[in-house]
Amino acid sequence: MLSQETLHELSEELVRAGYDVRRDFPLGPLTTYAVGGKATLAVVVADLSVSTDLARVLAKFPSLPIAIVGRGSNTLVSDEGFSGVAIVVSSAPRDAELIIDGDIVTAFGSMTMPILARRSVGAGRAGLEWCVGIPGSVGGAVRMNAGGHGAEMSDSLVSARIVSLRSGVSTDVNVADLGLHFRGSALSAHHLVVSARFVTSPTSVEQGTHVIDDVVRWRRDHQPGGRNAGSVFVNPAPGEGSAGALIDALGLRGHRCGGAMVSEKHANFIQADASATALDIMNVMSEVQLRVQEAHRVTLRSEVCLLGFAPEIVERFADPTHHDTQKVQAREHLGKLLGESQ
Ligand SMILES: Cc1cc2nc3c(=O)[nH]c(=O)nc-3n(C[C@H](O)[C@H](O)[C@H](O)COP(=O)(O)OP(=O)(O)OC[C@H]3O[C@@H](n4cnc5c(N)ncnc54)[C@H](O)[C@@H]3O)c2cc1C
Repeated sequence: MLSQETLHELSEELVRAGYDVRRDFPLGPLTTYAVGGKATLAVVVADLSVSTDLARVLAKFPSLPIAIVGRGSNTLVSDEGFSGVAIVVSSAPRDAELIIDGDIVTAFGSMTMPILARRSVGAGRAGLEWCVGIPGSVGGAVRMNAGGHGAEMSDSLVSARIVSLRSGVSTDVNVADLGLHFRGSALSAHHLVVSARFVTSPTSVEQGTHVIDDVVRWRRDHQPGGRNAGSVFVNPAPGEGSAGALIDALGLRGHRCGGAMVSEKHANFIQADASATALDIMNVMSEVQLRVQEAHRVTLRSEVCLLGFAPEIVERFADPTHHDTQKVQAREHLGKLLGESQ
């Protein structure tokens, strides 16, 4: 819980540093589910290149709960909102420029993945066409190791500039040190992805556009539109079937709680109506998890980031391998690179 004194002191410092600071800032509209409550405090960051100043201020308040919000395409905000500081990454025109140096393409963390795909193809670079299907930001995609169409971020990512909002340190981190794994990484809630460098290969604009068109067509044919956050559950371990197939086997398409339901088009998507609340979506998630557990003895874990929910709810949907030695060591190693005391 943030005290009024801390809030006041922090707001003053951020405003003095030139940041756009808002109290009781609605987070729901920033997400593709479009549900959920407010953040106690939000800092709207339009220029990621000056985020070290932001980090310097936030580093003075080490116990603050922090959450970074990109395009909100993989986030469910609770109806109660988030009692902490939300760093809202908004895209500035300057951030929409790609830097191309030989095979290396550099993008700001605020750039959207479809723009990354289209601009790199436009510049005659291949390898990032699949990104057109991901409606998130580059920063969110690095944190999630987003992927699709047989590729994922770790295939082409070379390094990312990360700012620790705890230590104030900003540094380029090689891909090997980011601890990327299936739909996750060693990055924590206070690690801001400022930019990312990708290795690409030459292509003709015509060929690249053809690949992009195929991805867009596939998405349109196989995935629902409207309000959702893509796949809700992570695919279980190999041999246990895809999350969608496990849900489908129980005939749960169309299963509804209030204003939210399992998509009729894709069993691992949850659709939100205009009347939906975060609780409706959470109720669908809980019921699907329970039914799959009972029928298949498989515990489905959330791919969607849960923001502002009670710890026991977050834990119920959390990755059980989060505490595995390898993952713990990857987080500790990254923390050291970012000057954070252990
Ligand atoms: C229709 C649809 C289809 C989708 N298909 C796919 C798919 O095929 N494959 C796939 O992997 N995902 C898919 N997604 C999920 C989502 O688009 C990706 O996970 C995306 O990378 C999230 O980016 P975002 O900016 O929206 O992140 P957010 O939802 O804003 O945040 C997600 C996480 O990333 C963190 N984050 C966001 N920005 C930054 C930043 N700059 N620095 C550090 N951390 C940050 C947040 O704190 C949070 O932990 C889909 C979503 C939708 C709605």
